[in-house]
Amino acid sequence: MSRVGCDLEELTSNAKHIQDDVLTKILKADANTEYLQQFLQGSSDKELFKKNVPVVSYEDVKPYIDRVANGEPSDIISGNPITAFFLSSGTSSGNLKIFPSNNIYYENIQTICTIASVTMSKYFDGFKQGKEMRFTFFHPISTTPCGLPLGPVMTSFTKSEHYRSLAKNSTSPDKIILCPDTKQSMYCQLLCGLVQRDEVVSVGAMFASVLVQVIHFLESYWKELANNIRCGHVSEWVTDLSCRDSLSILLGGPNPELADLVENECGQKSWQGIVSRLWPKAKCIDTIVTGTMAQYIPALEFYCSSELPLVSKLYACSEALFGLNLEPLNKPQHVSYTFLPNMSYFEFIDVDVDGLTTEGEIVDLVNVKLGHYYEPLVTNFSGLHRCRVGDVLQVTGFYNMTPQFRFVRRKNTVLSVYAESTTEEDLLKALASATVVLESSDLMLTGFTCYADISTVPGHYVFYMELRAKVNNNSNNDLPLDNKVLVECCCAMEESLNGAYRLSRSKDEHIGALEIRVVQQGTFDSLMEFYVSRGSSITQYKTPMCIISAEPLKVLEDNVLARFFSDKSPPI
Ligand code: AMP
Repeated sequence: MSRVGCDLEELTSNAKHIQDDVLTKILKADANTEYLQQFLQGSSDKELFKKNVPVVSYEDVKPYIDRVANGEPSDIISGNPITAFFLSSGTSSGNLKIFPSNNIYYENIQTICTIASVTMSKYFDGFKQGKEMRFTFFHPISTTPCGLPLGPVMTSFTKSEHYRSLAKNSTSPDKIILCPDTKQSMYCQLLCGLVQRDEVVSVGAMFASVLVQVIHFLESYWKELANNIRCGHVSEWVTDLSCRDSLSILLGGPNPELADLVENECGQKSWQGIVSRLWPKAKCIDTIVTGTMAQYIPALEFYCSSELPLVSKLYACSEALFGLNLEPLNKPQHVSYTFLPNMSYFEFIDVDVDGLTTEGEIVDLVNVKLGHYYEPLVTNFSGLHRCRVGDVLQVTGFYNMTPQFRFVRRKNTVLSVYAESTTEEDLLKALASATVVLESSDLMLTGFTCYADISTVPGHYVFYMELRAKVNNNSNNDLPLDNKVLVECCCAMEESLNGAYRLSRSKDEHIGALEIRVVQQGTFDSLMEFYVSRGSSITQYKTPMCIISAEPLKVLEDNVLARFFSDKSPPI
């Protein structure tokens, strides 16, 4: 298909033309679908499309998607045959969703990977010559009632022809990445990375939450990993034959020197900078730390050397791939994603800064305005037309003719116990204030979520936090929970919440004192396991910013170690 182009300059200079072309192709293919027929009566006219086809959310089109998944023909929604379904993480919205898909999505991944690789090589010398230690996990692929594969995007891609033809320089052989047992896979991927430590130029995982989990896993298993390296054998509990075969080649025999080194580094009291110590040639940490993932920045900065840039490379979802961060050295708070106009057809609804009240006009990709906030709409090659993505983005600039966006937050994630409405961005600001307070202590934040507790009168905000001691951080017993520091955290968080919150809080009868509930170490891993057991993929897992349902809440509640409350109302 001539649609795929990998020349960044050409793509971004001709954004308008390419977007027009993408829409023409989609409408020509889809004009006679049952879905579009009702609005366009078979026409593929672009203006008519914008006038007549409604903006929809997933729930609106779910009945059509379900019909195809249940065996009715693809052309209910898409002229291009549907060949697979993607399972979205569902951790942001709470519900698992399935999206129709086909090879065009995989071609788009190839395009994006090619451009990303060129960008990384431009900024990091010798990047192409080294290896990436990128933790990816396989999620079982099931089938829809009509027999089409159903799995998370990355797993589905890993199984595709397109993945096989992609140039890769990963420390982990495909056979290990494809191992369905997460624990065995994680263990083996770490072993592969340790054995090839001198070649590793980047350490990463799709989302920061996963990378932090891997580092915690390393904390529990480094002695065993070192033993395996010392004797040149993989532990017996790793039973997956493909993993064992791949590793026996990579281990290549006993390596006591490397084993000593791993033991020396991991055996130190503090794990500060452990990633850079174990992988000294790593030039960056390649993982998404924007949006809800920003909560993992302090932990990653602690575990990695402070000079190692945290690179959020990509912005994408199961509906469409959007774009790339072309300036990987930018600090996380200054990351913007440049949309690639050949991925899908994009429109944008102008939304208020708070993204909640009014929604303005809908504009094309090239017509967004600098500084404005938008929710993207996707029209893709697999049957979605003007579908809301549920994210809020802000235009930060243009690369050639193509806009760049900062990820602001998920649209609907708000916490409210009275008349105030607290957005995900507000929560991240509060979290940043808490982090500043924690920095002066021996504690580090490694997990965070919140909950609007309206069982108390008045209702109040509860923040679940998993904390670790920066030194000797292996046991809860050592956690130096200083009442003064944690109360100060509560107060700092309240002070940085928005005006409506502070006003309602100042009248104690509207909102009660903000509470921090410190949970045991490993609780956020259990939370992830809970969501994974419900069908989420680990690779795409994002810790929910807020918890609304009882079951995940119970995972947290069962592990509460201590509670702290703010001891004064914040200034208005
Ligand atoms: P999924 O469909 O499960 O892959 O989830 C897609 C969602 O993940 C997006 O709509 C965003 O809310 C979030 N997401 C993806 N990439 C990023 C990113 N680079 N920064 C922040 N959030 C992201």
